[in-house]
Amino acid sequence: MGKITGFKEYKRELPPQRDPKVRVNDFNELYEKENEQLRKEQAARCMDCGVPFCHNGCPLGNNIPDFNDAAYRGDWEGAIEVLSRTNNFPEFTGRICPAPCEASCVLGINKPPVAIEFIEKSIAEKAFKLGLIKADPPQNRTGKRVAVVGSGPAGLAAAAQLNKAGHEVTIFEKNSQPGGLLRYGIPDFKMEKWVIERRVQVMEAEGVQFRTNTHVGKDISAEELNNTFDAVVLCCGAEVPRDLPLKGRELQGVHFAMDFLTQQNRRLNGEAIGAEEIWAEGKNVVVIGGGDTGADCVGTSNRQKAQSVSQIELLQQPPLERSEENPWPQWPLILRTSSSHEEGCERNWAMQSKEFVGDGEGRLRAVKVVDVMWRKDESGRMAFFEVEGSEREIPCELALIAIGFVHTQPKGLLEELGIELDARGNVYATNYQTNIPNIFTAGDVRRGQSLVVWAISEGREAARAVDTYLMGETALPSKNKSAIDLMVG
Ligand SMILES: Cc1cc2nc3c(=O)[nH]c(=O)nc-3n(C[C@H](O)[C@H](O)[C@H](O)COP(=O)(O)OP(=O)(O)OC[C@H]3O[C@@H](n4cnc5c(N)ncnc54)[C@H](O)[C@@H]3O)c2cc1C
Repeated sequence: MGKITGFKEYKRELPPQRDPKVRVNDFNELYEKENEQLRKEQAARCMDCGVPFCHNGCPLGNNIPDFNDAAYRGDWEGAIEVLSRTNNFPEFTGRICPAPCEASCVLGINKPPVAIEFIEKSIAEKAFKLGLIKADPPQNRTGKRVAVVGSGPAGLAAAAQLNKAGHEVTIFEKNSQPGGLLRYGIPDFKMEKWVIERRVQVMEAEGVQFRTNTHVGKDISAEELNNTFDAVVLCCGAEVPRDLPLKGRELQGVHFAMDFLTQQNRRLNGEAIGAEEIWAEGKNVVVIGGGDTGADCVGTSNRQKAQSVSQIELLQQPPLERSEENPWPQWPLILRTSSSHEEGCERNWAMQSKEFVGDGEGRLRAVKVVDVMWRKDESGRMAFFEVEGSEREIPCELALIAIGFVHTQPKGLLEELGIELDARGNVYATNYQTNIPNIFTAGDVRRGQSLVVWAISEGREAARAVDTYLMGETALPSKNKSAIDLMVG
């Protein structure tokens, strides 16, 4: 523990974000440069409590008190060593994780929790700067070949771990650049793309091969993949978006959020954006869906200079503080205001969209909405009821549907391989192994739409399952067992 009285002396503080009026003119990351003193003080707030609940809160099982301590002492080598034991990509999670660890930080019982995510990012960035994160290829190769399909965080983590175990790993990616949703979904203002490129360079230097622009199931058949590789890890994401099949869905100006966000990422990356350009400049934009993807659409619309941005959410506005039914260390179901909301957006809660209204010439003119009330129905379950007489139109020329993803794409590769799906349409697996013994799976394709930190965790755990399948045993660490535990049985 760095400083015994740290949590009493220092308040939680994050590095300042750039002025919203300035940052909406570019897509660069939000934060000002960090300062050493702030990093040290924030790390000093960790109490090294007897039972650090943050370990459990983190899907990776990050050893948080130990890296906080090292960061406080300025021992960057020690800090990155601890962090890298459980997390392959702290520079990703340090930027975009919703930080379930902070929700379960013991200090959070009666004070703002330790700024763990900020400290994690600081350690990762400092380690890159000091040359502490560098290629570390395996000493020995096993002669086994593994294909990873998909280069999102799950695929990258699985590949990094399998390469560490000495297997020859090739990642296949249908897009022209690796990263999955990190690259084509998440906007640059949350994470600039050089962060992915820097990590990919390290992985390439360690021996991982990337085959981009290669759609498995189209450019290379499932059969060829199976014949060439000893094992396959499917990390294809959950790509089928949830639609809103209302009257007027076909109107010009109604789009999926992902199409809008992907175009902006491609534009910034200098890639072609596809057929119809979706562009918010001068338009009134309605974002349907109050989650993170919706917030990313708000931030992107403001940067494209939309006339106005409104967001619609069916659920009621959450409370500002935890309710009694939602105590620590559960994930707090409270109102979250993202940086994108601070840049300008009208947020509408308990509102249902009813229809996309056209201008008579095939173009969107408004979204028809109605207020709803939430209460228990006869069976005792929460249900919503329309408020009579509240129907009205929100004028808009662009509507973005951001209500999540239903499941992975079953057509093509999965069908061709004969992969069994679960009741929700995700890939069914037992300990990350599908119904076909040499084919494994990890990330959103298996658990459904989730988080980057879960994708990394799944990729790591799936790598252990593959290594055990190929070698009969594994020394790769698990979030439940360290490599040493495993070695000593
Ligand atoms: C707009 C948006 C914002 C988000 N923001 C956050 C956030 O701030 N924090 C957070 O933690 N999570 C966030 N998420 C969720 C997070 O991005 C995902 O949970 C995570 O990326 C899932 O990782 P994955 O590797 O399983 O899949 P993905 O990232 O979806 O990667 C799958 C990859 O597989 C490739 N692929 C699919 N099929 C094939 C094939 N047949 N051949 C070759 N390649 C194929 C795809 O092209 C893709 O690159 C966000 C999601 C979205 C949509």
